[in-house]
Amino acid sequence: MESDLKRVQRVIVLGGGSAGFMAALALKKRMPDLSVTVIRSKDIGIIGVGEGSTTALTGFLHQYLQVPPKQFYEMAVPTWKLGLKFVWGPRPHFFYSFDSVHLTANYPDLRKPISFYCDADMECVEPMTALMAGGKVFERAPNGAPKFNNSFAYHFENEKFVSFLETFATNLGINIVEDKVEQVLVNQSGVTGLSMASGRTETADLFVDCSGFVSLLLGKTLQEPFINFKGSLFCDRAVVGGWTRKPGEPIYPYTTCSTMDSGWLWQIEHEHRINRGYVYCSSFISDEQAEREFRSKSPDVTQTRVVKFVSGRYERNFVKNVVAIGNASGFVEPLEATALGVIATQSRVLADSLATADRQIRPTHARYINYHHSAIWDATRAFIAIHYKYNTRIDTPFWQECREKTDLAGADDMMEYYRENGPCSFWGPLVVGHEDPFGINGYITLLLGQRVGHRINFTPTDQEMQKVSAIRQHYRQMAQQGLTAEQVLAAIRDPQWKWQ
Ligand SMILES: Cc1cc2nc3c(=O)[nH]c(=O)nc-3n(C[C@H](O)[C@H](O)[C@H](O)COP(=O)(O)OP(=O)(O)OC[C@H]3O[C@@H](n4cnc5c(N)ncnc54)[C@H](O)[C@@H]3O)c2cc1C
Repeated sequence: MESDLKRVQRVIVLGGGSAGFMAALALKKRMPDLSVTVIRSKDIGIIGVGEGSTTALTGFLHQYLQVPPKQFYEMAVPTWKLGLKFVWGPRPHFFYSFDSVHLTANYPDLRKPISFYCDADMECVEPMTALMAGGKVFERAPNGAPKFNNSFAYHFENEKFVSFLETFATNLGINIVEDKVEQVLVNQSGVTGLSMASGRTETADLFVDCSGFVSLLLGKTLQEPFINFKGSLFCDRAVVGGWTRKPGEPIYPYTTCSTMDSGWLWQIEHEHRINRGYVYCSSFISDEQAEREFRSKSPDVTQTRVVKFVSGRYERNFVKNVVAIGNASGFVEPLEATALGVIATQSRVLADSLATADRQIRPTHARYINYHHSAIWDATRAFIAIHYKYNTRIDTPFWQECREKTDLAGADDMMEYYRENGPCSFWGPLVVGHEDPFGINGYITLLLGQRVGHRINFTPTDQEMQKVSAIRQHYRQMAQQGLTAEQVLAAIRDPQWKWQ
């Protein structure tokens, strides 16, 4: 029997930031004969932050969209990010690696996974933290060239990234309209058209709302309720700035996140620039005080600007004929730099779902897109919440409040499991849920890093600790021979270099 649902022929994506172009590209790549138009206003502009990513973005770019690395590296000028360095909790610092699965690996002669031997020192028991600790990006192949692994993400300046996406979108046949939407036309089935400053009206079968925090179609027009995450995530502003990289300042292969009086500070590595941002809670510190504290830690910063945000999500992101992606659908503060990865996943889910449903807006597909939307944002909220709840590094009023009042949201089961079992990943996917982008190893890294206590009383033998030292020694040596970001940049710009 034929379905009586109409096939989507034409899609309008409202917004030309990272979300707008990523969504448009996913749709066009998956369904090349679909008509896709991006409408954006340069007067309104883009948010301009969003410089650190996760591995979900790397896979989306190079596998799903098949972005050619040569063009991407030339235009977006990224550097490589293997994870994060946290100046956080009681240890001097710890690393969170995108390949944290190694942290719970089993080795012969060790009775438990290696995570049980990390109480005093959790560095270099696996390859990725050894590379990060050594300031190296990739291992060196026998011919001296960098050996790219599958666990890296990128740092790039948001404007450069968006310009790259725009060029790629134009080449793929996506129509880009420069105009400002002034009125949204609606009926009981959803949005029927967008009326613009130029006087023209654009219509489509499906509207993808990528209008940023304003959420013009989903939030403002369709009035979808918003769920605020402020019970778990107290920060609501960032003061951002940076400086031109000076000779001798190394390009670190990670984002650094440091505890500040009323929040935390990021440091992101670009080839010629270092950018920083102090994410803070405006109930504990004024913009002027935040700027002072920021500059006291970052004397080289030139110009600054304040960005306001709210962490939370809309109840649903697919309502009638509108799907929201990116900040228009939800946002979780940038501590793990998750937004671009979530956008990549949302774009992929929408494009695959529409293609699978013969381009019809089927209620069951819409329902599962909504399920995915809530699961991914809620998992992100829970994971970030544990960073705040257990950071004992300093004792300011802000951090006291975080330790006392942070709502762990969905992380309670994980905490119960960890307290009872220690850093053991055995029941991982069932404990954290299949949609969780961080996985149980992500949790274990953060809990071990912050030295959160558990009830497993385990004392390694001397022989076991010797074995752990030998493992560390092995990875340190591998890292020592690895290549720095500067060396890899030189290698990929060598005329002899060939991308695989
Ligand atoms: C402080 C801070 C730090 C962040 N750091 C990171 C990070 O390190 N990593 C990460 O992954 N994410 C980060 N993010 C999030 C990230 O910046 C965004 O999620 C991402 O850039 C997507 O933005 P967007 O495309 O949804 O919105 P925007 O970039 O704001 O784009 C909105 C688009 O909609 C258009 N538009 C809006 N209204 C209209 C209208 N009426 N008519 C026409 N066009 C319109 C605008 O012109 C623009 O093109 C950070 C966010 C904040 C607040």
